[in-house]
Amino acid sequence: MTPRHLMAVLEEPWADRLRPIPLRLLFSPRVPPRDRRVLGWTLLAAVCVASLLGVASRRLGLDAVKILEMRGMPIYFTFYPPIIISGILTFWLGLPWGVLVAYASTLLVSYDAGMSIPLALVFALANPVGLFVIHTLVSAFRIEPDLSDGRSMRVFAGCVLLGASASSSAAFLWALRGGGEASEFFPLWEGWVLNNVLYFIVIVGPVLRLTGRRVAAWKGAREYLVPAAGDSIERITVALIASLVMPILVAVAIGFGAERHIDLLEESRAWGLASTLLDRLRFNRRAQDILLAIIGFLSCTGIYLFSILYQQIVQARRELARLSVTDALTGVRNRRFADMELDAQYRRFARYGAPYAVVLFDLDHFKTVNDTHGHEAGDSALREIARYAHENVRDVDVLARYGGEEFLAILPETDRKGAAVFAERLRRHFEAHPVEWNGDRIPITASFGVAEPLAGDRDPHRAVARADEALYRAKRAGRNRVAESTPPSPATAAAGTGDA
Ligand code: GH3
Ligand code: MG
Ligand code: MG
Repeated sequence: MTPRHLMAVLEEPWADRLRPIPLRLLFSPRVPPRDRRVLGWTLLAAVCVASLLGVASRRLGLDAVKILEMRGMPIYFTFYPPIIISGILTFWLGLPWGVLVAYASTLLVSYDAGMSIPLALVFALANPVGLFVIHTLVSAFRIEPDLSDGRSMRVFAGCVLLGASASSSAAFLWALRGGGEASEFFPLWEGWVLNNVLYFIVIVGPVLRLTGRRVAAWKGAREYLVPAAGDSIERITVALIASLVMPILVAVAIGFGAERHIDLLEESRAWGLASTLLDRLRFNRRAQDILLAIIGFLSCTGIYLFSILYQQIVQARRELARLSVTDALTGVRNRRFADMELDAQYRRFARYGAPYAVVLFDLDHFKTVNDTHGHEAGDSALREIARYAHENVRDVDVLARYGGEEFLAILPETDRKGAAVFAERLRRHFEAHPVEWNGDRIPITASFGVAEPLAGDRDPHRAVARADEALYRAKRAGRNRVAESTPPSPATAAAGTGDA
């Protein structure tokens, strides 16, 4: 793992950009009216456009166009705009927004198609189920909002496939319960899955690619729209209750709404051992409904719990990565990280000539500090020194505890002279600011060695070795000073030793 990869894990630049805007903010006085208007009109427009296009496409017969027939089985293309609109809204604003649009428009279209109201109420849940699956999985895996890298695109495609199967299967089951033949609905089910996947890959994906970053920036500039992730116990509870209650409501609604008894499980006789149980179930509608409710509950819960588990794994991975490169006492980077960073800097230097410098410093007579004030005072001094030095390096610089009371700063794009100025600034600060401990003021100074890589170096540690030699000279010369590794004479450079 390179330092760059580690930092990517540590900082997770894509974290949390998909967090939804809560619907209730539409009515919250904390949100400026301008933003509420934007959100409100967007939602209203989405519901109206999705409903109108949905009704129109059904009336024109575009919701089931037979495009070919394979061995007597028709393959359908279904043009269903509400999915596209609610899909985009789900990724722009959050799951509740997409769900609202999907549910309202499909309800209207189903009613317009002559479905009984109870069945329509249930049937319209199919697309929200798909959106729930897609959104839950996608936010567990965390993708870039504009799918700008290969990983985000692969995750998106995989989640879309699962979501499309979930919503289409739900619609299939509910349509069957409302009356009809399985052989009639099965080709439609296929068409739904295929076309849902197609919409997301061909339309929703590219739209997100074009707009995702701008929408994320819009949300990012309005922190009040995306509250910090709530207490996850609360969220888990709500999700569990919802996934328990929803399928029961569904079952009850179907119980009242279905006109004809359809035996869903007829073909399951072939399952052999299970057939006795299923035979009993065949004639028991209530039992079938309960079975469906249980399956729905288990799958929704499973998906949700899986997503939480995955998030925990991601967090644990991040914490492990952080621990593996952090010094426990001071909280700055440890030697392991410094060595990786030295390696990376040295390779940039060797390939592109990109300059960098290293500053190694060791606290003076630190043993005496420990002996006089105790180890705890020594530890506290180390923390204080590390904190100050860390605050005074740039973002791109690395400060690491390299040994017991020895620190290494790696300064990219800095030459030896610049690094010596930095070292002198630290030296003066330490000299002027004794460390406070239990009312005592403990004077602490440090000696510094500064060096840079040279063309003849064969490995990244040559520069550190030169800094160490310079540090040793600083110690011998009386401590509390900065020594630079002097550039080699042309003769020694040619000999390839590169040493001062
Ligand atoms: P010099 O000026 O020559 O560097 O003198 P020094 O006493 O600092 O000598 P040296 O660098 O050899 O000694 C290192 C001392 O630093 C030994 C140890 O007591 C102390 N030390 C190293 N690590 C820790 C630590 O984690 N906590 C504390 N409190 N002290 C430490
Ligand atoms: Mg020392
Ligand atoms: Mg030492």
